[in-house]
Amino acid sequence: MRNAQKLLAPVLETLGARGYVAPARWAARAAEEVGTVDNSHRAPASVIEVPSRLLMGPGPANAHPRILAAQTLPLLGHMHPPFLKIMDELSEGLRYTFQTKSKYTLMVSGTGHAGMEAAIANLVEPGDKVVVGNAGIWGERVAILSRRYQADVVEIKVPAGQTFSYDALKQTLLEHKPAVLFLCQGESSTGTHQSLAGLGDLCRQTGTLLLVDTVCSLGGVPLFADQWGVDCIYSGSQKCLSGPPGASPFFMSDRAMEKLQRRKTPPATYNLDMNLIGDYWGWFGKRSYHHTAPVSTFYAMREALSLVSEEGLEAMWARHQELHHRLWDGLRSMGLKPFVEKDEDRLITVNTIKVPEGVDWAALVKNAMDTYSLEIAGGLGPTVGKIWRVGIMGFNAKPQNVDLVLDAFRDGLKRQGKL
Ligand code: PMP
Repeated sequence: MRNAQKLLAPVLETLGARGYVAPARWAARAAEEVGTVDNSHRAPASVIEVPSRLLMGPGPANAHPRILAAQTLPLLGHMHPPFLKIMDELSEGLRYTFQTKSKYTLMVSGTGHAGMEAAIANLVEPGDKVVVGNAGIWGERVAILSRRYQADVVEIKVPAGQTFSYDALKQTLLEHKPAVLFLCQGESSTGTHQSLAGLGDLCRQTGTLLLVDTVCSLGGVPLFADQWGVDCIYSGSQKCLSGPPGASPFFMSDRAMEKLQRRKTPPATYNLDMNLIGDYWGWFGKRSYHHTAPVSTFYAMREALSLVSEEGLEAMWARHQELHHRLWDGLRSMGLKPFVEKDEDRLITVNTIKVPEGVDWAALVKNAMDTYSLEIAGGLGPTVGKIWRVGIMGFNAKPQNVDLVLDAFRDGLKRQGKL
């Protein structure tokens, strides 16, 4: 049989070249039975249609049109020099965005969770002590992830809507001297902004690496990776950077890299091994294939970071701050109150609003979507049913969008007879 197939192959090739296709080619693989195609799950043969929504929840935010347009550019090979140049530009743009001179910046191929897992998998060795600041669901997730990578996790908690004080963190660090301290700068499930002041120095005293989640805060609030002594950061593309989901801005300090190089065992993930990914990004002076980069998403992020450069970080932070105040002036005039009590703990990019007694939060959210094509979100994790969440991020951080959110709140409350 094999011999017959071998003998037939050139004949079938010739027939194929003359446009004669099907049965003869199949015959060449006679061992496989060609059945009848089941069409019951055939996808719709039509052009995709997507409704237009204004995304003012905790993310994704709407992407900037220039960023969306970049994704339609022709694909390049993931190892082609023009694409490698785009990767270099991404690394450089991230250095500006993170405010670091570190060589070790890149986009992890994947969403914020991929960055989170990359950080833990690479910085934590089995048995390492990791102190996780759990102020909402992101701390909780990092604790779960760290345990999966066999860390000895010390979870510290604050009630939803609060942040960790410097003194409490100092005491924990001195007591445990952990390998890693995790904090979430912008906790989107509660709307808090964790201050990082003084923690870099403290972590150096206790031999600890400072790991920070900036998924909801990067580009929206100040961050100075080097000056503040942060050792590892992961972030998201779809929030204040106005990109599509799918790339996670990532940074490691020299200290974090030394720890990675000193590991006794390689990270228990091949997919997110930063030694291997870094080698694709040129961290170690060459370029080795690790995976096929999501080429179009990286074009988008290249455009996203050039928009950051055009506006400048200070102007971006100021824009987000101003619109946060515009939102709260309007919400307060309707009698609504922030979930986060202290001004200094409030995250300006994801605003959390207490649901007043007797108000149906879900009805207001539904009305915003049905009437205004506008996304406002409810709570998440510890805040479900207690709050609304309004994101003011990136391309969406504009006065007219904030005003539409206020209209939707006014309308939603009026419909329930609460205004
Ligand atoms: N951290 C924070 C603070 C987030 O808000 C999110 C997403 N909402 C994530 C991590 C996870 O990011 P992703 O959904 O892109 O995986």
